[in-house]
Amino acid sequence: MLTGKPPLATTNVVYFIAVHLLALVAAPIWGLLVGFSGWAWLTAGLIWLFSGLSITAGYHRLWSHRSYHAAWPLKLFFVIFGTFALQNSVLIWCARHRIHHRFVDDIERDPHSIRTGFWHAHIGWMLRHWSTSEVDFDRVRDLETDPLLRWQHRHYWILTWLLNLGVPAFLGLLVGEVIGMVLLAGAVRLVFSQHCTFFINSLAHSWGKRHYSDQNSSRDNGWLALLTWGEGYHNFHHAFQSDYRNGERWWHFDPGKWLIAACSAAGLASKLNRTPTFKIRRARLQMQFIELEKGLTSSEPDETWARAIERECQKFTETVNQWQAVQAERVQAGSAALRDRWRKRAFRSRFRELEQRLNAQVRRLASLQRDWYTNKAGTL
Ligand SMILES: [Zn+2]
Ligand SMILES: [Zn+2]
Repeated sequence: MLTGKPPLATTNVVYFIAVHLLALVAAPIWGLLVGFSGWAWLTAGLIWLFSGLSITAGYHRLWSHRSYHAAWPLKLFFVIFGTFALQNSVLIWCARHRIHHRFVDDIERDPHSIRTGFWHAHIGWMLRHWSTSEVDFDRVRDLETDPLLRWQHRHYWILTWLLNLGVPAFLGLLVGEVIGMVLLAGAVRLVFSQHCTFFINSLAHSWGKRHYSDQNSSRDNGWLALLTWGEGYHNFHHAFQSDYRNGERWWHFDPGKWLIAACSAAGLASKLNRTPTFKIRRARLQMQFIELEKGLTSSEPDETWARAIERECQKFTETVNQWQAVQAERVQAGSAALRDRWRKRAFRSRFRELEQRLNAQVRRLASLQRDWYTNKAGTL
């Protein structure tokens, strides 16, 4: 229950105050008085890149959602660089994240429900001992069998100090810039990368479009994708959480999915889970219809528009029915028939044809929406 205020989570509060003072006060003063070398900037950038990708492709898509399989060298990379991000062990991160998906927006269960306020969703949920922030390890029983994850969880704090303070200090020693390196590659990089991740819980649940589902507050936000290695397409992610992609179109900025695909090509990842395109287009079209119908009901009745939307709606239902019929036919055909290359190809081309039909309809509805708004703007 989020009634009243529970006691402060002292370790977290002290950490956040200290790291913000170092990043926002000490680092700029040091930068002005002494300056930072190219080595410090390069180290900060590389740790930001590797740790961000490890949270996105590792903590989130590999372990929380099991959206693909990874070979052990890749897992080791994600565990080490994920620890650099200082977002807790994989086990704790995934336990909370799975609860977030299961009870999204529920102020009684979601650890960072946006309905409890932007601040709470962004960082407030970590500053007090809220009952919703408690970790339920039952959620990650499948991950606890992995010795690598158990090892990281057991030694998390020593690893964190070693990586976030020890590594920058050691690299600083090598180039004769210990304080600059600790401030830039340690504190500044941490504050920047952590707030980028926190924005997924706050901004990606309040700013952007709901392209695939209006069942929860998650939003697609292309700007946020730029700062979070592709995690900004959060509405897609909540709708299709076991997909290894967040940006489903090839042009969506999603380095997480590109890394996973590249690792798959290199033999380091396998069994990548992709939601069938038809299901994605169907969800997208349903949202377009909802928006168009909202437009229609919020203004003067317009027969021509209403008929156009109804026609599209009919076509949509027909295509969905046909797709379900092909699905049923394929199930009936059984696995033996699917081993027949010719029949398999025939099914694939029928599915592709239906997908293309929905693709064309998505474009038609988008232009209908544009015309609608231009028309309405013209009549105002
Ligand atoms: Zn979310
Ligand atoms: Zn997720």
